[in-house]
Amino acid sequence: MLLGVIADDMTGATDVALMLNRAGMRTVQVIGAPAAGAKLPEADAVVVALKSRTNPVAEAVADSLAACEALLAAGARQILFKYCSTFDSTAKGNIGPVADALMQRLNAHQAIVCPAFPANGRSIFQGYLFVGEVPLQESSMKDHPLTPMRDANLMRLMGAQTPQKVGLASYASVNQGAAAVRKRLAELAADGVRYVVTDALDNGHLMVLGEAISDHVLLTGGSGIAMGLPENFRKAGLLPWRETATHLAAPTGRAGIISGSCSAATRGQIKAALAVGIPALKVDPLALAGGQQTAKELADWALAQPVDKPFLVYSSDDPAEVASVQDKLGRDKAGEIVEHAFAELARLLNAGGVTRLLVAGGETSGAVVQGLAIRTLEIGPEIDPGVPWTRVVDGPEMVVALKSGNFGAPDFFIKAWGLLR
Ligand code: ADP
Repeated sequence: MLLGVIADDMTGATDVALMLNRAGMRTVQVIGAPAAGAKLPEADAVVVALKSRTNPVAEAVADSLAACEALLAAGARQILFKYCSTFDSTAKGNIGPVADALMQRLNAHQAIVCPAFPANGRSIFQGYLFVGEVPLQESSMKDHPLTPMRDANLMRLMGAQTPQKVGLASYASVNQGAAAVRKRLAELAADGVRYVVTDALDNGHLMVLGEAISDHVLLTGGSGIAMGLPENFRKAGLLPWRETATHLAAPTGRAGIISGSCSAATRGQIKAALAVGIPALKVDPLALAGGQQTAKELADWALAQPVDKPFLVYSSDDPAEVASVQDKLGRDKAGEIVEHAFAELARLLNAGGVTRLLVAGGETSGAVVQGLAIRTLEIGPEIDPGVPWTRVVDGPEMVVALKSGNFGAPDFFIKAWGLLR
């Protein structure tokens, strides 16, 4: 293994894994902090997906160090600490404390701080983070329920989370190329600067930065910064040229869709699936709560459908219906009941021969992954931006696509199967 990535949440992990896969690295995603001594799968890059963005600092640090240890043991030459491109964190962390702990563990003298992801409108200029055309604190991130971002100055944001000195490698050097960036990093190092915020306004800047920090053992940033890393390994003769696979070999078996996402995009995808005649069963959360409907019945219905088509089991509903269910059951309870049923359903479907599964909904995906005891996923071809097919490496023999609610085009549930062989 060449590159180890520690991602502070699940969808962020998939995001960076896709980026690396697209740039020619065979990438595997591991879910959760690896146990001490656990062996990681063989791949060019391994991304450990943690849930360390907003949990207590000590826990986030411990999980990140455990991930780091496993990645080093598997041969990682460079560690990327991946966080959100909007620098989602509080005044206390967890970005600063986790970066500090990794810096110490890796004996790193300096690390860049680069959440930029220009393709998604996240750019950095003079150390200020922009979302589209507005500075971070004017974007919708100012009202985020867990990590409201009220400043766009990355030196101040990072400076508040670490005792280490924070500096800036601005556009002036980044725009001149890798040699100029290296010179600037050395100047800052001589001045005792351990964290360097780096400007990046486009993909060209990310490639320059990737080249400039080829010898850094630790880097921190969003998934954009991963873009320039594979080329370093290729130049060093460590990584053969790999074509990005356009199809994924899937085990023979049946295909199914589970949707617990109530997001607008998912509801549109369900409508499109119904319109082309995909057999579908709508789940009633109140019936699940009352025991009139069970996961076993859902599975029996699904497995009785024609084998040559995917089936769809969904609880997705419009906001008014969801609100009415939540009124009756309580918001957390409603979510829990549906998630629990879908986790059990996924298990029963797999036992019944389903080996190709699409799951819609972030929380729903988490529940299904847990239900199926999936620990490791190999990233395959991208169905729509941000959503790849993945092959389960550690867990049941199957392929899954985990779709975050608002992702995917309207025909997502229809076209995804065409990428499987
Ligand atoms: P998304 O990615 O679209 O946000 P999630 O799966 O993360 O989707 O979240 C949807 C949540 O809503 C889950 O907790 C799910 O169990 C719950 N849920 C699904 N269907 C219903 C419904 N009909 N009524 C109430 N809650 C629901």
